[in-house]
Amino acid sequence: MNTIFDKSVTGRKGFNIETPIKDAEKLLDKKFKRLKDAELPQVSELDVIRHFTNLSRLNFSVDTHFYPLGSCTMKYNPKINEKVSILPGFSNLHPITPYVDYHLCQGALEVIYNLSYLLCEITGMKKMTTQPYAGAHGELTGILLMAAYHKARGNKRKYVIVPESAHGTNPASAAMAGYSVISIPVNSRGEMDIDIFKEKMTEEVAGIMMTVPSTLGVFENNIKEIIEIVHKYDAIAYYDGANLNAILGKLRPGDVGFDIVHINLHKTFGTPHGGGGPGSGVVGVSDRLCDFLPVPLVERNNKGIYYLDFSVKNTIGQVASFYGNFAVLLKAYAYIIMLGKEGLIDITEKAVLNANYIMKKLKNYYHLPFDRTCMHEVVFTAKNQIKNGVHAVDIAKYLIDNNIHPPTIYFPLVVEEAIMIEPTETESKQTIDNFVDVMIDIANLAEKEPEKIKNSPFNTVISRPDETKAAREIKLTCDM
Ligand SMILES: *Cc1c(COP(=O)(O)O)cnc(C)c1O
Repeated sequence: MNTIFDKSVTGRKGFNIETPIKDAEKLLDKKFKRLKDAELPQVSELDVIRHFTNLSRLNFSVDTHFYPLGSCTMKYNPKINEKVSILPGFSNLHPITPYVDYHLCQGALEVIYNLSYLLCEITGMKKMTTQPYAGAHGELTGILLMAAYHKARGNKRKYVIVPESAHGTNPASAAMAGYSVISIPVNSRGEMDIDIFKEKMTEEVAGIMMTVPSTLGVFENNIKEIIEIVHKYDAIAYYDGANLNAILGKLRPGDVGFDIVHINLHKTFGTPHGGGGPGSGVVGVSDRLCDFLPVPLVERNNKGIYYLDFSVKNTIGQVASFYGNFAVLLKAYAYIIMLGKEGLIDITEKAVLNANYIMKKLKNYYHLPFDRTCMHEVVFTAKNQIKNGVHAVDIAKYLIDNNIHPPTIYFPLVVEEAIMIEPTETESKQTIDNFVDVMIDIANLAEKEPEKIKNSPFNTVISRPDETKAAREIKLTCDM
């Protein structure tokens, strides 16, 4: 039987994966061995249960509370996704590549193949890699694809254009791949200043990275014109689609000319996130970039057999071990199949409606820097409250006392005292109305009793830690 170690299938030499477990004892250097038994605390099962149950109660999660954290899409993740991802046929499978013969993981390969196909349909892209572990990882993959494209064509490019309203990871990814970043300011409507963009666009620009809708929660109306200009210079248009719940079924980035799209499955497609992972930042490309995609790709031969294709012509190589976070791919696949086309369109309509509802309800109380229809999130500021000494951070703390996770604050950086609210499509009107009421209470309290907000929270285990110190000298225990 052909195995994926077989050169004829993979194009790679086989390698030895035998682990000499029985000799492990001998192989381990003495200095790494434990000299005496570990001192483990002697506690009863009940004490352990209480300890962890009490700790878990300190968690703030979508399953317990409203979580309108802008740019993060903290939507409800249906539990059926979890069920699918632990089906024994999947969860007992060894990592797909290179440890399992492809004949033995046809089901898993079919999932990857179908998911890639569906995501291509959704984004208007030609091909997709599901390897990247996170959004930023997808961005780096995308920029490496961009670099490979220019290298193959003998183009000498130094710069990547990133509007100020892009997600912060965009310039970081471009810099990591060796490009210098040209930042373009936003105009009074919150869109990239197209005149400055035109001035900066030259033969030395490798491409542009656009977050659409931008981190200001607004749609870029000039994308078609921008992409035409980018293409005129043989440069690449990159779409940051981390938050695709603003456009599902309404706009396919490929249809307006984008060449690369990354999607955060852990934001848009109902897979959990937080604390840094595990996520999935799949990357789709147009015709122009298919020859550079990471290997392996999952393909299907004319007998309907799925296999791993290592033969991509100018591949940038593998960007993740095995096949990315496969359990996350399974969850996203379940989510898409469960909702179907109509369900996906419904996501976008509700996500955008909910954000606009909040905007309308709160705009008489909070300063709205860009007063126009928003997409899946809305950016306010604390400017009206500052005159009473109440800042965005104080509003955030007061919300915690009201069992609401704070919105994103002080981001996007281009908006001073930003309060970025993303209700998502999964919240009920009651929950959103309650949030609106609390926000209105805060605005009123800021006028009458600002101290109350400035000293909150009162109901949490700790009140206001020194945030820098807390991040640098993390302490994971507390007295309860
Ligand atoms: C979250 C986000 C990213 C980064 O994704 P990670 O998975 O956190 O690396 C990139 N772009 C946008 C617009 C995002 O919202």
